[in-house]
Amino acid sequence: MTDRQRCYPKKLVLATANPGKKKELQALLEGSGIKLVSLLEYPQLVLPEETGTTFVANAKIKARFVVEATGHWALSDDSGLVVDVLAGAPGVHSARYAGLKAVDSENNLKLLQALAEISDDQRTAAFVCVVVLASPAGEEFVFEGSCRGSIGRQLTGSGGFGYDPLFLVEPDYQLSMAQLSTVQKSVISHRGQALRKLRQWLGSFNKESVKKELTSPR
Ligand code: IMP
Repeated sequence: MTDRQRCYPKKLVLATANPGKKKELQALLEGSGIKLVSLLEYPQLVLPEETGTTFVANAKIKARFVVEATGHWALSDDSGLVVDVLAGAPGVHSARYAGLKAVDSENNLKLLQALAEISDDQRTAAFVCVVVLASPAGEEFVFEGSCRGSIGRQLTGSGGFGYDPLFLVEPDYQLSMAQLSTVQKSVISHRGQALRKLRQWLGSFNKESVKKELTSPR
């Protein structure tokens, strides 16, 4: 087996029990020859706390934990909102910005309050997503996506989740992320970008000898 073939996962365990994330990944990995399972198939596993100070560090914590616990390749993601004038906050704390058990509306309200005195041209921000693929041999492959916008002064739109109703999309800031369809969002979103980079990376193996490797008799 060549190094290139050794680097190709045949089975991937997602570092999440969220069926929505599995569905999204499954569509993306169609035709790749990879069997995808989530933590729903490992109910005894509880992900460790995300103690990293960066998205990459947190995604690596989750991926490495799953590799070590299952012995299989693992895929994790970490994402959040980075606001320039707040020195990158809420950043890795996006899910719990307004408190450990905060819900989206509380996080959005806290963000609106933090930016109350900030002028329109200073309200720039980005959604960031990091996806990490980790192998049992200790390799880690990192894929990043980001999407720039500006934070509005009120909630607009009913789609999406999290900070979407406050995030006005570049270039003209006319629509919030919550006003886009799921397909429109995935074209521009941080997560869509990171996942497409992952797919492209996996695709580069398919074009070479991986298919042969996967189908050749052992
Ligand atoms: P996680 O990486 O799925 O844990 O997301 C962390 C937090 O970042 C979420 O709870 C949201 O508050 C925020 N976030 C991440 N991605 C998005 C998005 O696409 N739209 C809105 N908020 C997001």
